[in-house]
Amino acid sequence: MLRGVIDTHAHYHDAAFDGDRAVLIPSLFEEGIEAVVDVAAEKASLAAVLKLVKEQPAERAPHSGPGAAAERPRPVIFGTAGLHPDEVGDLDEETEGVIRRMLLEPKIVAVGEIGLDYHWMVQPKDVQERAFRRQIAIAKEFGKPVVIHSREAAEDTMRIVREENAAENGGIMHCYSYAAEQAKDYARMGFYLGVGGVITYKNGRKLRESVLAVGIDRIVLETDCPYLSPEPNRGKRNDSRNLAYVVTALADLFGLPEEEVIRITAENARKVFHI
Ligand SMILES: [Zn+2]
Repeated sequence: MLRGVIDTHAHYHDAAFDGDRAVLIPSLFEEGIEAVVDVAAEKASLAAVLKLVKEQPAERAPHSGPGAAAERPRPVIFGTAGLHPDEVGDLDEETEGVIRRMLLEPKIVAVGEIGLDYHWMVQPKDVQERAFRRQIAIAKEFGKPVVIHSREAAEDTMRIVREENAAENGGIMHCYSYAAEQAKDYARMGFYLGVGGVITYKNGRKLRESVLAVGIDRIVLETDCPYLSPEPNRGKRNDSRNLAYVVTALADLFGLPEEEVIRITAENARKVFHI
Protein backbone atom coordinates (compact mmCIF):
# COMPACT_ATOMS: atom_id res chain seq x y z
CA MET A 1 0.00 0.00 0.00
CA LEU A 2 1.12 3.53 -0.73
CA ARG A 3 1.89 6.10 1.97
CA GLY A 4 3.13 9.67 1.63
CA VAL A 5 2.82 10.02 -2.16
CA ILE A 6 2.72 13.50 -3.72
CA ASP A 7 0.99 13.80 -7.11
CA THR A 8 2.65 16.87 -8.63
CA HIS A 9 0.41 17.20 -11.69
CA ALA A 10 -3.33 16.49 -11.68
CA HIS A 11 -6.41 18.09 -13.22
CA TYR A 12 -9.11 17.25 -10.68
CA HIS A 13 -10.98 20.41 -11.71
CA ASP A 14 -11.60 18.67 -15.08
CA ALA A 15 -15.21 17.84 -16.01
CA ALA A 16 -14.20 14.16 -16.07
CA PHE A 17 -14.37 14.29 -12.24
CA ASP A 18 -17.66 16.23 -11.93
CA GLY A 19 -19.58 13.11 -10.98
CA ASP A 20 -17.43 11.94 -8.07
CA ARG A 21 -14.82 14.60 -7.23
CA ALA A 22 -16.29 15.31 -3.77
CA VAL A 23 -15.99 11.65 -2.77
CA LEU A 24 -12.84 10.75 -4.67
CA ILE A 25 -10.50 13.48 -3.38
CA PRO A 26 -10.98 12.83 0.37
CA SER A 27 -10.69 9.06 -0.26
CA LEU A 28 -7.24 9.48 -1.81
CA PHE A 29 -5.62 9.98 1.60
CA GLU A 30 -6.55 6.46 2.66
CA GLU A 31 -4.96 5.29 -0.58
CA GLY A 32 -1.67 6.86 0.50
CA ILE A 33 -1.84 10.19 -1.34
CA GLU A 34 -0.55 12.91 0.97
CA ALA A 35 -0.79 15.90 -1.36
CA VAL A 36 -1.87 16.82 -4.88
CA VAL A 37 -0.93 19.78 -7.04
CA ASP A 38 -3.87 20.65 -9.28
CA VAL A 39 -2.53 22.24 -12.46
CA ALA A 40 -4.36 24.94 -14.43
CA ALA A 41 -4.45 24.75 -18.22
CA GLU A 42 -7.27 26.74 -19.81
CA LYS A 43 -8.64 30.11 -18.77
CA ALA A 44 -11.76 28.58 -17.19
CA SER A 45 -9.62 26.26 -15.09
CA LEU A 46 -8.00 29.18 -13.23
CA ALA A 47 -11.14 29.80 -11.16
CA ALA A 48 -11.76 26.06 -10.88
CA VAL A 49 -8.29 25.39 -9.44
CA LEU A 50 -8.68 28.22 -6.94
CA LYS A 51 -12.06 26.86 -5.85
CA LEU A 52 -10.63 23.38 -5.35
CA VAL A 53 -7.71 24.70 -3.31
CA LYS A 54 -9.95 26.86 -1.13
CA GLU A 55 -12.47 24.10 -0.44
CA GLN A 56 -9.65 22.30 1.31
CA PRO A 57 -8.75 23.03 4.92
CA ALA A 58 -5.55 25.08 5.11
CA GLU A 59 -3.83 22.41 7.19
CA ARG A 60 -4.32 18.69 7.39
CA ALA A 61 -6.80 17.70 10.11
CA PRO A 62 -5.04 17.01 13.43
CA HIS A 63 -4.53 13.37 14.28
CA SER A 64 -5.28 13.99 17.94
CA GLY A 65 -6.89 16.64 20.09
CA PRO A 66 -10.27 18.31 19.67
CA GLY A 67 -11.85 17.80 16.28
CA ALA A 68 -9.62 14.90 15.33
CA ALA A 69 -12.45 12.40 15.18
CA ALA A 70 -14.81 14.79 13.43
CA GLU A 71 -12.71 15.32 10.31
CA ARG A 72 -11.24 12.52 8.23
CA PRO A 73 -7.71 13.22 7.06
CA ARG A 74 -7.60 14.14 3.41
CA PRO A 75 -4.84 14.97 0.98
CA VAL A 76 -3.74 18.59 0.87
CA ILE A 77 -4.57 20.18 -2.48
CA PHE A 78 -2.24 22.81 -3.88
CA GLY A 79 -2.71 24.57 -7.22
CA THR A 80 -0.91 26.36 -10.03
CA ALA A 81 -1.85 29.34 -12.20
CA GLY A 82 -1.07 29.66 -15.90
CA LEU A 83 -2.21 28.89 -19.43
CA HIS A 84 -1.28 25.79 -21.46
CA PRO A 85 0.27 26.60 -24.87
CA ASP A 86 -2.93 25.50 -26.67
CA GLU A 87 -4.83 28.10 -24.63
CA VAL A 88 -2.59 31.14 -24.79
CA GLY A 89 -4.90 32.93 -27.23
CA ASP A 90 -6.66 33.89 -23.96
CA LEU A 91 -3.59 35.42 -22.34
CA ASP A 92 -4.72 39.04 -22.32
CA GLU A 93 -4.21 41.66 -19.63
CA GLU A 94 -7.30 40.58 -17.72
CA THR A 95 -6.21 36.93 -17.58
CA GLU A 96 -2.71 37.92 -16.54
CA GLY A 97 -4.36 39.84 -13.71
CA VAL A 98 -6.23 36.70 -12.64
CA ILE A 99 -2.97 34.70 -12.66
CA ARG A 100 -1.19 37.36 -10.62
CA ARG A 101 -3.95 37.52 -8.02
CA MET A 102 -3.93 33.72 -7.72
CA LEU A 103 -0.18 33.74 -7.09
CA LEU A 104 -0.77 35.79 -3.94
CA GLU A 105 -2.57 32.76 -2.45
CA PRO A 106 -0.21 30.65 -0.32
CA LYS A 107 -1.58 27.39 -1.75
CA ILE A 108 -0.94 28.42 -5.36
CA VAL A 109 2.60 27.10 -5.56
CA ALA A 110 3.75 27.46 -9.19
CA VAL A 111 3.11 28.96 -12.62
CA GLY A 112 1.86 26.30 -15.03
CA GLU A 113 1.33 24.56 -17.11
CA ILE A 114 3.13 26.78 -19.59
CA GLY A 115 5.32 26.04 -22.58
CA LEU A 116 5.19 25.06 -26.24
CA ASP A 117 3.10 22.47 -28.08
CA TYR A 118 3.87 22.06 -31.78
CA HIS A 119 1.91 18.82 -32.10
CA TRP A 120 -1.57 20.22 -32.79
CA MET A 121 -0.32 23.77 -33.31
CA VAL A 122 -3.55 25.22 -31.90
CA GLN A 123 -1.76 28.55 -31.54
CA PRO A 124 0.90 29.86 -33.94
CA LYS A 125 4.51 29.47 -32.80
CA ASP A 126 5.10 33.17 -32.23
CA VAL A 127 1.99 33.48 -30.05
CA GLN A 128 3.08 30.45 -28.01
CA GLU A 129 6.59 31.79 -27.60
CA ARG A 130 5.47 35.23 -26.48
CA ALA A 131 3.05 33.76 -23.94
CA PHE A 132 5.68 31.32 -22.65
CA ARG A 133 8.13 34.19 -22.07
CA ARG A 134 5.41 36.35 -20.43
CA GLN A 135 4.45 33.59 -18.02
CA ILE A 136 8.07 32.78 -17.12
CA ALA A 137 8.46 36.48 -16.31
CA ILE A 138 5.40 36.35 -14.03
CA ALA A 139 6.81 33.28 -12.23
CA LYS A 140 10.09 35.10 -11.64
CA GLU A 141 8.30 38.22 -10.44
CA PHE A 142 6.51 36.11 -7.79
CA GLY A 143 9.51 33.89 -7.02
CA LYS A 144 7.62 30.76 -8.09
CA PRO A 145 8.76 27.62 -9.90
CA VAL A 146 7.40 26.78 -13.37
CA VAL A 147 5.59 23.66 -14.60
CA ILE A 148 6.57 23.27 -18.24
CA HIS A 149 4.61 21.43 -20.93
CA SER A 150 6.67 20.86 -24.08
CA ARG A 151 5.67 18.66 -26.99
CA GLU A 152 7.55 18.37 -30.30
CA ALA A 153 9.29 21.63 -29.45
CA ALA A 154 12.55 20.46 -27.86
CA GLU A 155 14.92 23.05 -29.33
CA ASP A 156 12.70 26.11 -28.91
CA THR A 157 11.84 25.11 -25.34
CA MET A 158 15.50 24.76 -24.35
CA ARG A 159 16.36 28.06 -26.07
CA ILE A 160 13.61 30.03 -24.31
CA VAL A 161 14.26 28.37 -20.94
CA ARG A 162 17.92 29.40 -21.20
CA GLU A 163 17.27 32.92 -22.54
CA GLU A 164 14.66 33.67 -19.88
CA ASN A 165 16.54 31.89 -17.09
CA ALA A 166 13.33 29.98 -16.32
CA ALA A 167 15.22 27.79 -13.84
CA GLU A 168 15.71 30.73 -11.46
CA ASN A 169 13.13 29.37 -9.00
CA GLY A 170 13.25 25.76 -10.17
CA GLY A 171 10.59 23.85 -11.98
CA ILE A 172 9.30 20.62 -13.45
CA MET A 173 9.51 19.35 -17.02
CA HIS A 174 6.06 17.80 -17.06
CA CYS A 175 5.51 14.56 -19.03
CA TYR A 176 9.10 14.71 -20.29
CA SER A 177 9.35 13.22 -23.81
CA TYR A 178 12.76 14.25 -25.19
CA ALA A 179 16.22 12.66 -25.23
CA ALA A 180 18.24 11.62 -22.18
CA GLU A 181 21.05 14.06 -23.04
CA GLN A 182 18.68 17.01 -22.82
CA ALA A 183 17.12 15.62 -19.64
CA LYS A 184 20.55 15.86 -18.05
CA ASP A 185 20.82 19.50 -19.17
CA TYR A 186 17.47 20.30 -17.54
CA ALA A 187 18.52 18.47 -14.38
CA ARG A 188 21.77 20.44 -14.25
CA MET A 189 19.74 23.65 -14.48
CA GLY A 190 17.75 22.53 -11.43
CA PHE A 191 14.65 21.10 -13.08
CA TYR A 192 12.88 17.92 -12.05
CA LEU A 193 11.30 15.48 -14.51
CA GLY A 194 7.60 14.74 -13.98
CA VAL A 195 7.10 11.00 -14.44
CA GLY A 196 3.72 9.31 -14.83
CA GLY A 197 1.93 6.56 -16.70
CA VAL A 198 4.18 6.68 -19.77
CA ILE A 199 6.97 4.99 -17.77
CA THR A 200 4.84 1.80 -17.77
CA TYR A 201 4.17 1.81 -21.53
CA LYS A 202 5.92 -0.49 -23.96
CA ASN A 203 6.90 2.58 -26.01
CA GLY A 204 8.16 4.38 -22.88
CA ARG A 205 11.75 3.28 -23.45
CA LYS A 206 12.99 6.79 -24.22
CA LEU A 207 11.50 8.09 -20.96
CA ARG A 208 13.04 5.23 -18.99
CA GLU A 209 16.45 6.18 -20.43
CA SER A 210 15.95 9.82 -19.42
CA VAL A 211 14.83 8.82 -15.94
CA LEU A 212 17.93 6.68 -15.43
CA ALA A 213 20.13 9.44 -16.84
CA VAL A 214 18.98 12.07 -14.31
CA GLY A 215 18.59 9.75 -11.31
CA ILE A 216 15.87 9.44 -8.69
CA ASP A 217 16.92 12.71 -7.02
CA ARG A 218 15.53 14.59 -10.05
CA ILE A 219 12.19 12.75 -10.38
CA VAL A 220 8.72 13.73 -9.17
CA LEU A 221 5.55 11.67 -9.53
CA GLU A 222 2.64 12.94 -11.61
CA THR A 223 -0.60 11.52 -13.00
CA ASP A 224 -1.73 14.21 -15.47
CA CYS A 225 -5.14 12.77 -14.58
CA PRO A 226 -7.70 12.32 -16.07
CA TYR A 227 -5.19 11.48 -18.85
CA LEU A 228 -2.32 9.00 -19.26
CA SER A 229 -3.33 6.12 -16.99
CA PRO A 230 -0.46 3.68 -16.49
CA GLU A 231 -0.63 0.03 -17.51
CA PRO A 232 -2.71 -2.01 -16.72
CA ASN A 233 -5.31 0.79 -16.71
CA ARG A 234 -4.18 2.54 -19.88
CA GLY A 235 -7.10 4.16 -21.70
CA LYS A 236 -9.28 4.47 -18.56
CA ARG A 237 -9.76 7.66 -16.54
CA ASN A 238 -6.65 8.21 -14.46
CA ASP A 239 -6.41 9.31 -10.82
CA SER A 240 -3.69 9.50 -8.16
CA ARG A 241 -4.24 5.93 -6.93
CA ASN A 242 -2.67 4.70 -10.19
CA LEU A 243 0.66 6.18 -9.06
CA ALA A 244 1.15 2.79 -7.38
CA TYR A 245 2.04 1.39 -10.84
CA VAL A 246 4.42 4.27 -11.55
CA VAL A 247 6.14 3.72 -8.19
CA THR A 248 6.58 0.02 -8.98
CA ALA A 249 8.04 0.82 -12.41
CA LEU A 250 10.52 3.31 -10.90
CA ALA A 251 11.46 0.89 -8.12
CA ASP A 252 12.23 -1.80 -10.72
CA LEU A 253 14.17 0.62 -12.89
CA PHE A 254 16.40 1.91 -10.07
CA GLY A 255 16.51 -1.29 -8.03
CA LEU A 256 15.13 0.58 -5.01
CA PRO A 257 12.44 -0.38 -2.50
CA GLU A 258 9.09 1.26 -3.35
CA GLU A 259 9.11 3.11 -0.01
CA GLU A 260 12.36 4.78 -1.02
CA VAL A 261 10.94 5.85 -4.39
CA ILE A 262 7.97 7.42 -2.60
CA ARG A 263 10.10 9.08 0.09
CA ILE A 264 12.61 10.60 -2.35
CA THR A 265 10.05 11.78 -4.94
CA ALA A 266 7.90 13.35 -2.21
CA GLU A 267 10.96 15.13 -0.81
CA ASN A 268 11.75 16.39 -4.33
CA ALA A 269 8.17 17.67 -4.71
CA ARG A 270 8.33 19.48 -1.38
CA LYS A 271 11.61 21.10 -2.39
CA VAL A 272 10.46 22.35 -5.79
CA PHE A 273 7.10 23.70 -4.58
CA HIS A 274 8.28 24.84 -1.12
CA ILE A 275 5.48 22.89 0.54
ZN1 LIG B 1 -1.41 18.43 -17.56
